[in-house]
Amino acid sequence: MYEDQTRVSPQETMMQHEVHLRRVQQHFVQAACSCGWLSAARRSESLAAEEGRDHAILYDGAFSAEIT
Ligand SMILES: [Zn+2]
Repeated sequence: MYEDQTRVSPQETMMQHEVHLRRVQQHFVQAACSCGWLSAARRSESLAAEEGRDHAILYDGAFSAEIT
């Protein structure tokens, strides 16, 4: 039995993608999405923001550059 991994389930298409930035260990910034996705922790805030924005665009979600 093989499951088709490329097929998008209804639950995934309905999932909200709200990406925001968060500070990690003082000097790092990471983008985090409400779907559970996380970017790598970056020293550069703009780099983390760029990755977060890419994720929001990819999944038609929302991006907030505010660091929480
Ligand atoms: Zn997401």
